[in-house]
Amino acid sequence: MNAETRQTVVVDGLALANEIRDELSEAVNRHVQAGRRAPRLAVVLVGDDPASASYIKGKQRACSRVGMDSEEHDLPGSASQQEIIDVVERLNADDRVDGILVQLPLPKGVDANAVTGAIDPEKDVDGLHAVNAGRLLLGLPCLTACTPLGIMKILECHKIPLEGAQAVVIGRSNIVGKPVSLLLQQKNATVTMCHSRTRDLRAECRRADVLVAAVGVPMLVKRDWVKPGAAVIDVGVSVVDGKLTGDVDTDAVQGVASIVTPHRRGVGPMTITMLLENTLQAYENRTGV
Ligand code: NAP
Repeated sequence: MNAETRQTVVVDGLALANEIRDELSEAVNRHVQAGRRAPRLAVVLVGDDPASASYIKGKQRACSRVGMDSEEHDLPGSASQQEIIDVVERLNADDRVDGILVQLPLPKGVDANAVTGAIDPEKDVDGLHAVNAGRLLLGLPCLTACTPLGIMKILECHKIPLEGAQAVVIGRSNIVGKPVSLLLQQKNATVTMCHSRTRDLRAECRRADVLVAAVGVPMLVKRDWVKPGAAVIDVGVSVVDGKLTGDVDTDAVQGVASIVTPHRRGVGPMTITMLLENTLQAYENRTGV
C-alpha cells in the first residue's frame, strides 16, 4: 500500500477505557468480597465553573461505576488559598480517603502549586505533587499524571513500537507534556519536546514516529506535519463555534497516520480511567493489600 494512502485506525478511547474499567471493577470487587472497604476518592471543587463541575460529576460517576466511593467538597469561588488547603489537610488526615483531587483551574489569586503541594503525596492521584513528579523524573514508582498514563496505554494497546522511535511532544506543561515525555523516554523513545518558542514546529513534527499534541490550539497539526505511518495522539480540547476541537486536523491526517485519537472518545475517557487506576493504586499502597 502507498504510504500516503494507508488505512488510519481511529482510536476508540471509550472502548479501551471500558475494558480497563471492567478490570478495575473486578479488582475493587475482590477487595470488597474479602471484607475490606472500597477505595475512596475525594474531589474538591472551588467556584462555580460549569465545565469544572461537569468534569467532577463525570469523575464521581466513573468511580461509582467501578464500585469505588467518592465524596465532593465544594467551596465558593471566594475561598482563600488557606481555606482550600485546610480542606486538603482534613482529607489528608482522613484514613478512609485514598485519593484527593483538586479540580483545576483554581480561582485567580490562588497558587495551584501551593494547593497541590499540600496534598499527601500518597493520595495525590493527579500525580502533580513535587514528590511524585520528582520520583517520575528519577524513574521511581510513583503516582503519575492521568492523561500521560492514558496516552501510554493507548500506544501500548495499539502495539506502537517505542524502542528507538522518534517521539515528538508538543507542549511542556507539568500535567501533560513533561510527564508524557518522561514516560516515552522510559520506553526508550528518543523524545523531542516542542513549545511555543520552537523554531520550525512543522519540521520537528515531520520527523515523529509518535506525535503527541498537548497544546490547546485548534487544528494546529496539519496533514503535511505528519510523517506517513506516525501514531498521532491529540490531547487538545478547544471549543470552536460550539464544537469540540482538538490540536490535530483529524480528518486531514486520515490516510497518513497509522493511528489517530479523535476529539471525542479519544484521550478523554482514558484520562478518567487512569484516575480510577491511580485511586486503586493509592488504596492498595496505603492499605498494603
Ligand atoms: P498548557 O499548560 O496551556 O500548555 C500548553 C503548552 O502548549 C505549553 O507548553 C505551550 O508552550 C505550548 N504551546 C502553546 N501554543 C503553542 C504553539 N502555537 N506552538 C507550539 N506550542 C505551543 O496546557 P495543558 O494543560 O498541557 O493542556 C493542553 C491541551 O490539552 C489543552 O487543550 C487541554 O484542554 C487539553 N487537555 C486534555 C486532557 C484530556 O484528558 N483530553 C487532559 C489535559 C489537558 P509554552 O510552554 O512555551 O507556553
